[in-house]
Amino acid sequence: MSELDTFREEARAWIRENAPKSLWGTSGSGPFEGYWGGSKNTESDPDILEWRDLGIEKGWTAPSWPKKYGGGGLTPAHEQIIHEELRAIGVPRPIAGQGLAMFGPVLLKYGNDKQRAEHLPKITRGEVRWCQGYSEPNAGSDLANLQLRAERDGDKFVLNGQKVWTSHANLSDWIYCLTRTDPKAPKKQMGISVILADLNTPGITARRIDLISGYSPFCETFFDNARVPVENLVGKLNEGWTIAKAILGYERSAIGQSIARQPGSAQREVVARSRKHLGVGEGPIPDPLLRDEVASLGMLEEAFHLTLARIQQGAESSTPGPEGSISKIVGTELKQKRFELGMKVAGIQGLGWEGPGFDEDDIQYTRDWLRSRASTIEGGSSEIQKNIVSKRVLGLPEAKK
Ligand SMILES: Cc1cc2nc3c(=O)[nH]c(=O)nc-3n(C[C@H](O)[C@H](O)[C@H](O)COP(=O)(O)OP(=O)(O)OC[C@H]3O[C@@H](n4cnc5c(N)ncnc54)[C@H](O)[C@@H]3O)c2cc1C
Repeated sequence: MSELDTFREEARAWIRENAPKSLWGTSGSGPFEGYWGGSKNTESDPDILEWRDLGIEKGWTAPSWPKKYGGGGLTPAHEQIIHEELRAIGVPRPIAGQGLAMFGPVLLKYGNDKQRAEHLPKITRGEVRWCQGYSEPNAGSDLANLQLRAERDGDKFVLNGQKVWTSHANLSDWIYCLTRTDPKAPKKQMGISVILADLNTPGITARRIDLISGYSPFCETFFDNARVPVENLVGKLNEGWTIAKAILGYERSAIGQSIARQPGSAQREVVARSRKHLGVGEGPIPDPLLRDEVASLGMLEEAFHLTLARIQQGAESSTPGPEGSISKIVGTELKQKRFELGMKVAGIQGLGWEGPGFDEDDIQYTRDWLRSRASTIEGGSSEIQKNIVSKRVLGLPEAKK
């Protein structure tokens, strides 16, 4: 038995012995599901808090980070095993969110010792929640067009401008921002720097954007002469584009991973909805066309899991490369197909929004279906991911303009 096989047995035993039973089966165990922490967190479920504390104690909130920052000091292969074992019984990671999945790994690589010592332990303990200050009104797919200015004034950067679609800025403590530090740079990618800001800094305001659904994670974040210490610059001045792309690599791969649930679960979900809404009894679904669609969803799901495993096994380092765009494209398409089919079999019940005619599951499903539409946009739209795959994975020439 290999060392990793032995570790898997130990991890499985520890998780099954320690994870509170109320959390079993509640999660796909993805990097964005579960307790996000932060000073504004109001979570009161004792089991979720106990699981968080056990994870912190064992170093398993960030299994592959160094122990001195609260990690487990394990390899990425060990970390993957832990996450697979959590997924096998549907238990969430002890702490989730952008700090662990996106920002922290990049700070480990590009930050300096002081920044790592200051920020990483607060992430592994869930004390500080981070959000992403990338998009602006004129910088989405064309992210390098961003205009949030950061001008040096003594020992401070003075930030002026606006970010948009900042998910959960109102619930976060800190923001990692892409800023324009050299507006005269010959190429727009060259005058960008990554600057960290405490959201309590005077001059920073996060305002919620209300959506028609009534629920919205989004904020607009305004910077009005916000002064942040020059020590908050990550990496070198005007060389932030590389760091920005590294964070996006983690984000895209994490979005893909967060869609991977227990193998076969998408198919099982649609079959269960068919039984509930179409009155289909035990055994095969009688309608051959629907059966075909369910089978093709199952095949896509299987192919997605195999693709994820292949990307992980073939990865040259633990830093996600452009291949992360493949898992994002396939994963988000799978997610949308799953919800489209789940809605189709529910018929009129699939339109449940509120009221006595719909049960809680149907109402939640409608919201999840609508939310799935955003998955092919967040973290960079599918069209942009396809451009990345064609250029950086397949090596195809750029299209002539
Ligand atoms: C749920 C969600 C959460 C988000 N959270 C955050 C966050 O926390 N922080 C943050 O900074 N941003 C966040 N965003 C913003 C997200 O990064 C942008 O929406 C995304 O990059 C697309 O930019 P855009 O909305 O400006 O669309 P646009 O760039 O205007 O694109 C519009 C359409 O044109 C297409 N298009 C544009 N350029 C090309 C091209 N070169 N080739 C082919 N097609 C193209 C796009 O694919 C898209 O279909 C979030 C978005 C969503 C949906």
